[in-house]
Amino acid sequence: MPGTNLTREEARTRADLLRVDAYDIELDLGSAREGGTFRSTTVVRFTATTPGADTFIDLVAPSVEEITLNGVSLDPASFADSRIPLPGLAAENELRIVADCAYTNTGEGLHRFVDPVDGETYLYTQFEVPDARRVFATFEQPDLKAAFAFTVHAPKGWVVVSNSPTPTPVGDGDTQTWTFEPTGRISSYITALIAGPYVGVFDSYENGEQKVPLGVYCRPSLREFLDPEAVFEVTKQGFDYFQEKFDFPYPFPKYDQLFVPEFNAGAMENAGAVTLRDQYVFRSKVTDAAYEARAATILHELAHMWFGDLVTMEWWNDLWLNESFATFAEAVCQAEAPGSKWPHSWTTFANQMKTWAYRQDQLPSTHPIMAEINDLEDVQVNFDGITYAKGASVLKQLVAYVGQDAFFEGVRAYFKRHAWGNTRLSDLLGALEESSGRDLKTWSKAWLETAGINVLRPSVVLNTDGEIESFAVLQDAPALPAGAKGEAVLRPHRIAIGLYELNGDALVRTDRIELDVDGPRTEVPELVGRHRPAVVLLNDDDLTYAKIRLDEDSLAVVTEHLGGFDDSLPRALCWASAWDMTRDGELAARDYLSLALSGLGRESDIGVVQSVQRQVKLALDAYADPDWREQGLARWAAAAEEFLRAAAPGSDHQLAWARTLAAVARTDGQLGLLAGLLDGSVEIKGLAVDTELRWTLLTRLAATGRADEAEIAAELERDNTAAGQEHAASCRAARPTAAAKAEAWASVVESDKLTNYVQEAVISGFQQSDQRELLAPYAAKYFAAVKGIWETRSHEISQQIIVGLYPALQVTQETLDATDAWLASAEPAPALRRQVVEARAGIERALKAQAADRAAGGR
Ligand SMILES: [Zn+2]
Repeated sequence: MPGTNLTREEARTRADLLRVDAYDIELDLGSAREGGTFRSTTVVRFTATTPGADTFIDLVAPSVEEITLNGVSLDPASFADSRIPLPGLAAENELRIVADCAYTNTGEGLHRFVDPVDGETYLYTQFEVPDARRVFATFEQPDLKAAFAFTVHAPKGWVVVSNSPTPTPVGDGDTQTWTFEPTGRISSYITALIAGPYVGVFDSYENGEQKVPLGVYCRPSLREFLDPEAVFEVTKQGFDYFQEKFDFPYPFPKYDQLFVPEFNAGAMENAGAVTLRDQYVFRSKVTDAAYEARAATILHELAHMWFGDLVTMEWWNDLWLNESFATFAEAVCQAEAPGSKWPHSWTTFANQMKTWAYRQDQLPSTHPIMAEINDLEDVQVNFDGITYAKGASVLKQLVAYVGQDAFFEGVRAYFKRHAWGNTRLSDLLGALEESSGRDLKTWSKAWLETAGINVLRPSVVLNTDGEIESFAVLQDAPALPAGAKGEAVLRPHRIAIGLYELNGDALVRTDRIELDVDGPRTEVPELVGRHRPAVVLLNDDDLTYAKIRLDEDSLAVVTEHLGGFDDSLPRALCWASAWDMTRDGELAARDYLSLALSGLGRESDIGVVQSVQRQVKLALDAYADPDWREQGLARWAAAAEEFLRAAAPGSDHQLAWARTLAAVARTDGQLGLLAGLLDGSVEIKGLAVDTELRWTLLTRLAATGRADEAEIAAELERDNTAAGQEHAASCRAARPTAAAKAEAWASVVESDKLTNYVQEAVISGFQQSDQRELLAPYAAKYFAAVKGIWETRSHEISQQIIVGLYPALQVTQETLDATDAWLASAEPAPALRRQVVEARAGIERALKAQAADRAAGGR
């Protein structure tokens, strides 16, 4: 439906023509408990620069009942292709549209969820990118800001939250009415409505005269697990930090955070009414890494209140800047805010954001940070590792380049200048040029308009006394994958070099040199004449975005003493470098396993431990020589059991190793241990076998044929919640029988009845790396179905299927050939093509890494 896919050109034309003043939106949610549709009435007032001109307004709805433009009623049948044509505008216009809109179960638009615990209905909206039009008629583009006033009819006794403070409802019947005050001028994609018998906890942020009401909400069935004090604490730290750094008071009248069910993303920055996925309300023990991630998400959304909500991108091509800024802001706030529990946030940033960015930036689909976004389909597949993670990494480099004080000075000017308006990248760069006195045009061209990752390598020459005769940093241009856009360039890098010596088994930093690297070779005269340190670490402190290679001597020391760095950041950088080499086939999967086994025992950062655990599993499943794979998995499983038994009782490490063992257990003894933990016949001191861990154990038992429907049903009886239903669906799909696979496949591919979360659970259960043969027939079925899926399902749902059901476990030339044949004949839409091409790249990379591992096995 081309009308659904608004183009940038259409948006530009419409923005030139219109100024939108206000929306009055009336929603009748009296039907919420039954589902189906709800009545939506929109009155929008706007002016036109060219009277007599035509335009259109966006709406995705089953039916339109009334269209009245300036008192003249238009034929509702003119509504077609997600648009309502508006012919012959006046200078001042009032448009009234009455429609029946649909509740969704995909997490897009107005999502409707029934909690199996209490049978109650819970609603929330999710509008980014273009889904406000699923709830009311709107000019769906970020630069047509307006004031939004919502009137909501909903069941009596419900909680109704929107951008403006919640009014007292009126009315005596079964349905009451909430009339919200108009918002300030904001974009449609950050408007919001959350309604249902949610429960709230309240506090306020106070700073001198300023008092901002705070609320935290969740479903009653999660209330016993909610820890609002922890949420408020991080939120207040964020208010303090951002208000000071931005020198601009929080711009909205209150700040609510709502944990909502079946949420597709981590969270959404609706102005003053942030929604977050409710897995962040922890039902069972999680590691500190999960608390850190939640705090980061809270700060990310809070930063958006200024960057994104108060000042908003003109068009989606600057989505990267919006997301990168918030991602950078979350990390810098965690690192610096007084009282922060996670001052090592840059380690997590290196461990997670950088890893994501490096992976995405080596896919054939990689693109410059400043992407061409010609239409809405372009932006919907662009919530990727370039937009979030590379952008944030490059922003961190920019801060190192201009200096942090100048950076925030520029940001302060930017907020003052553009409050309640829309901007382009050049507005921010201009402000930073003013504050720093640096010319950013060359910098911006090199970093934002080109794709790929530079490689930085040290060149060390020693004299006969073992002193450094010359030291240089060598820079390689990115190795862009075939088909990638853009030219491969060298870039200016601000980096630090760390020098480390061995003291016993500890690696101690003895010096740090910060310098600008530019061009293919940058000499470092400061190091000439010095004794060669045990380890030379380029990009220490992780200032720039580059692949880092260690010289041979440093690599040997690090391989033996990785746990010896006392600071977590250099360890994370070395782990990342080793993982990167494994992915590139420069380090054999079996050698990465050895490195992990020697280094993990001393790794104290739980986030890093969990990343390495996942990466080892991936290396064994995808990058190991298939003839050796089973040996590697057996070694990993045995090690996991040893680590589990040796871990401190009740520690995060103990839980992380329990999960790791549950992912890989294969011998009778290991599987018996899982079963024993589950039925209580075996105990490991300090390990709480709680609701989530029980499901983790059961999933593995189901996947290995040790638990069947009876056990799954019994577990669901113990935990008959939404999360329990998802886990049960995953367990069923994981069973190692042709019938279970066929059933799972049919429920996802041949039916559209599953909600977004259940579908995701079924897909993850379906794909079991130990079941390659059983899954092999589904490669052909995938290519037969995927185009139809893309054409008939919503964006989120189809993306889950396209990415999740790709035959990624069939690492063979045949899979590449089948993919190529499909790409050549199916004529996929660009966004669909991109997703399949990315999946294909995973097979290509795995084949190459497997060859490297095979060679290492023969050496
Ligand atoms: Zn964001």
